[in-house]
Amino acid sequence: MELATLSSQLNPVFREALLARVRFYHDLGLTEFYRRPVDPALAQDMGAPSLDSQTWNNSAQPALFQEDQPIPPRKPINAPPQVAIPQSAILAPPQEALQLIRDEIGDCTRCPLHKGRNKLVFGDGSPTARLMFVGEGPGADEDAQGIPFVGKAGQLLNNMIAAMGLQREEVYIANVVKCRPPGNRVPEPEEGNTCSPFLFRQIDVVRPEVLVALGATAATYLLGTRQPLAGLRGRVHAFRGTQLIVTYHPAYLLRDPRQKKEAWADLQIAMKELGLKPPSRG
Ligand code: URA
Repeated sequence: MELATLSSQLNPVFREALLARVRFYHDLGLTEFYRRPVDPALAQDMGAPSLDSQTWNNSAQPALFQEDQPIPPRKPINAPPQVAIPQSAILAPPQEALQLIRDEIGDCTRCPLHKGRNKLVFGDGSPTARLMFVGEGPGADEDAQGIPFVGKAGQLLNNMIAAMGLQREEVYIANVVKCRPPGNRVPEPEEGNTCSPFLFRQIDVVRPEVLVALGATAATYLLGTRQPLAGLRGRVHAFRGTQLIVTYHPAYLLRDPRQKKEAWADLQIAMKELGLKPPSRG
């Protein structure tokens, strides 16, 4: 049985809770999950909502719950090109160079994400920004408006930018994938690997002094390796001539506001690199 079919059979409340938990782990950089059979009686003892017995009947779900089923190898994430495109090779001014990339993307059908897209979300902000943020992929609000980070996570990102003493129009914001993954799931390697070369070209045009990766997906595609977020935060990574700082995704901070302090510490590293002081509160 297809995972999507199984997922649609789950109790919706339980499914939402499960999704939130998986996203939470993903934000922490934990991306390996293994499926094991669950005893329905035990699940209910542990307070899980009662589930229709067929959904949780192992013999009815052989493809998903057989313990001896090999775990498929994970598809690799492509590393970014080692060297940025030299400025002298970019013949148009930044605004036009970005438009040329946008034109080349066109009405993209290069990966399956185009099927569920309303609007492609290219990027937003100053083409000559000193600071650039990279997120994971558009959510529902971004898909509707065609602009990155305009939903709840975007409001928090705007607040983070303001706390740094900057205006949103002064920075540049883009995502690893430009079309919304269904249900806001993490982009598949096929999708991220197909779309990220356009992101690298945007970075090469904007040439920010500091790049901030928001969350595990952005860090993974920028660094070209999967590593837990915890080990990447709190320091500066040299990235193709730019300083890269990794921090939590604003959506994760909305789910666990206690981590905002940690994120602020990361943003202060970015500010130090840029020579910025937070605005005075008086
Ligand atoms: N989350 C992202 O990663 N990017 C957006 O544009 C919006 C939400």
